[in-house]
Amino acid sequence: MEGAEKQALIAPNGKAVGGSSIEVRNPATGAYVASVACVDDAGLELLAQRGRAAQPAWSELGVGGRAVILGALRRWLSENSERVIETVISETGKPYEDAQLYDLGYGLAALSFWTRNAPRYLQEQRFFAHTPLLAGRRLVTRYVPRGLVGVIGPWNYPLVNSFGDCIPALMAGNSVILKPSELTPLTSLLMAEAGAECGIPDAVFQVAPGGGETGAALVDLVDFVMFTGSIATGRAVALRAAQTLTPVSLELGGKDALIVLDGADLERAANVAVFYAMMNSGAACVSLERVYAESTIYSEFTAKLAEKVAALRYGAPHGPGSVDVGAITDERQLDTIEAHVADALAKGARLLAGDRRGERSGRFFEPTLLVDTDHTMACMNEETFGPTLAVMRVADEDAAVALLNDSRYGLGAAVFARDAAEGERVARRLAVGAVCVNDAAINYFALEAPMGGVKQSGLGVRHGPDGIRKFASQQTILITPRWMPRREPQMYAYSAWMTKLIGRWLKLLYGRRASTTPEHPEPAAKRLLRAARRRASGD
Ligand code: NDP
Repeated sequence: MEGAEKQALIAPNGKAVGGSSIEVRNPATGAYVASVACVDDAGLELLAQRGRAAQPAWSELGVGGRAVILGALRRWLSENSERVIETVISETGKPYEDAQLYDLGYGLAALSFWTRNAPRYLQEQRFFAHTPLLAGRRLVTRYVPRGLVGVIGPWNYPLVNSFGDCIPALMAGNSVILKPSELTPLTSLLMAEAGAECGIPDAVFQVAPGGGETGAALVDLVDFVMFTGSIATGRAVALRAAQTLTPVSLELGGKDALIVLDGADLERAANVAVFYAMMNSGAACVSLERVYAESTIYSEFTAKLAEKVAALRYGAPHGPGSVDVGAITDERQLDTIEAHVADALAKGARLLAGDRRGERSGRFFEPTLLVDTDHTMACMNEETFGPTLAVMRVADEDAAVALLNDSRYGLGAAVFARDAAEGERVARRLAVGAVCVNDAAINYFALEAPMGGVKQSGLGVRHGPDGIRKFASQQTILITPRWMPRREPQMYAYSAWMTKLIGRWLKLLYGRRASTTPEHPEPAAKRLLRAARRRASGD
């Protein structure tokens, strides 16, 4: 972007330049941080035109060339880590540690991972076809960048869910327009500045500050939408994208649960539960929000939780180690958190820690532990997205599994059991995108593994091979050699004898007995076959 136009989007010295603007305030202190000019509809269309014009050259640079530039961005991020952390803290109010490990740490890891692995994941494949009809032909499948990708992100991790998804989109050869949450545009703008410094060509990566209407308008202008946010907005994005049949990937809300069974290491389970419930003020899609604890260990486990939650320090962060739990970034979220706690208490839950809205200049909610909860309560059914943890007593593993699965959400889950084998067995019964055994949520950092939700928690995945291939369309090239006959037997004109011959040939090829596969062990498969034959013959 040229200097003058850049000024139109990014307000210098914190002052808005014409049009509407976003005023960013630190949620932990209420202090003014900066004003950012919003992009209007015409400006957004201009960004889209420029992004499209810049994309072919970026694609032609090749995945290796793009890796060099995004590798330079990784170095920039490392060298400017304090500036990045400060920017994240200034707009989210989170503790230094949350910004350091999860925003900066993820950004570094993702830049390193995608620059290394994109060449492998995007490699084209050459092969021969399985069906004899194609004998002699060669096939090539290749990943072609979609063109212009729109990334729409939430406020909870400005570097992870907003810029983080731009990395594989860029590595796949697309140009990208990022629409960050209006609450947290500064980290994204900083990444645009850094990208330009590191050689990302003009208009290949652009940021479009604005509110929900900007996100909605962006959906109409791009070739692929990567959306992270709430289920309600995700649905609106999918509906809008359906008008143009634009493909979308949706990473939506979660209500991650923890199962704790008799025989588990309760001390570790309690530490993990409290950390992954309260980290980032509970504003993580993969936060633990509900716990199902077996009745035999329920009292001991909840006592441990109570002690650990009560010991947490919350408030405005002022440097490393100053607080454990920071601010609530989105003011509207405070009402939801308060409503869920009040609803649970009204319906008979017991409070073992917390329950107060912070009475300070910033926005806070005291880390809160609810026990004796049940599924009539919102805190067990709806995403709270705050520093709360709700625990329910269950009779046994079956009850825990049934309750965990009784949810419209299906993002992640965690299991603490007697040993790893039992944990893995329980994990396989859970209807979620990822399960951690003797751990929680940390799978988000396993960039090799797909991360995404089932049910209403999302469509598609980030990370793993599909986490970058989704930013490309697949093209197949079939190459028939010159020596093929000019007229093949299946071509016109049809003749009865050739049709008969093809019929015999198909029988010969596919008429033999089905072979069994490892997934369908022979005895079981044979039983099914015998039963089907008996039914067919009317025995
Ligand atoms: P929202 O759904 O409110 O907003 C997400 C983004 O969409 C924001 O940039 C928002 O803009 C924008 N937006 C709002 N309306 C529209 C629209 N009609 N069309 C297109 N874009 C629109 O989510 P939050 O920001 O409140 O984030 C919290 C949610 O995100 C939680 O539900 C959480 O679980 C989920 N999340 C999911 C993750 C996952 O990986 N599955 C990870 C992190 C969060 P603006 O903010 O400016 O209004």
